[in-house]
Amino acid sequence: MPELPEVETVRRTLNQLITGKKISHVTVNLPRILQKPDDPLAFAAELEGRTFQSVERRGKFLRLVMDGLVLVSHLRMEGRYGLYNQDEPTEIHTHVIFHFTDGTELRYKDVRQFGTMHLFLPGEELQAPPLNKLGLEPLEDGFTLDSFRRELGKRSTKIKPLLLNQEIVVGLGNIYVDEALHTAGIHPEMPANELKRKEQELLHQAIVKTLSAAVEAGGSSIKSYVNGQGEMGLFQHSLKAYGRTGEPCLNCGTPIEKSVVGGRGTHVCPICQKRPRNVGPSQVVTSSKNRNHAVKRRLEGESK
Ligand SMILES: [Zn+2]
Repeated sequence: MPELPEVETVRRTLNQLITGKKISHVTVNLPRILQKPDDPLAFAAELEGRTFQSVERRGKFLRLVMDGLVLVSHLRMEGRYGLYNQDEPTEIHTHVIFHFTDGTELRYKDVRQFGTMHLFLPGEELQAPPLNKLGLEPLEDGFTLDSFRRELGKRSTKIKPLLLNQEIVVGLGNIYVDEALHTAGIHPEMPANELKRKEQELLHQAIVKTLSAAVEAGGSSIKSYVNGQGEMGLFQHSLKAYGRTGEPCLNCGTPIEKSVVGGRGTHVCPICQKRPRNVGPSQVVTSSKNRNHAVKRRLEGESK
């Protein structure tokens, strides 16, 4: 699933590609992508004649801003946007097409069909689901150490599921939570309100640093993520914990272990990330796949 860095990369690319383009009409091939309005004819009618003004982001959601309307789009597992000329053949799994007056088209493709689209009047999108319950933006000024500490102190949830649920801070998914916790030296099962002041500070720094570095690198290309122009991200080469089961920790040389925390595959250095005393051992997953092979498989999967 794309996380903040990947969505930010798509946002930047789309912003360049579609700003100023005017929609002539819209084709919906798979109505289930549409959440609001969920009627394809109503959805298409709202969009007709609108011009894209900018592409913004809130957490892992894209906000495609038009004159008088905002499209909130979540890519979920495999959603992708691409800009095409209208005479280019339409690939399968293309579910929504925004036809522009200049003869180009923005196509939304989604093999898994989990993506969502909501239409709102400008400003309303931030006050209503799915955006209204989201936590702080980690790369904006509001994400201060004090605000982060306050929120952590209120919750006894394990730190990894808490960071995944977007309630305190947005944009982290399975990859960057594992990376940030490894960087900060914190075990994913540590209750949030039991983190020491120094740990809170290290985690705050690690979240900002990990996400900034990944945005800089254009997002990871784990699974089949490709940005709006078909470029793959480069951050996979910098991952320190995620996907490195059995490989030596870059700090201490101990093999990275994979376990399950809150139902998600979790990568931990058993030395650098000390298990909290009151939590028993988690189930260790023993597959120690070769990373290069795994990356190669992913890349081969891409080209199919
Ligand atoms: Zn280590």
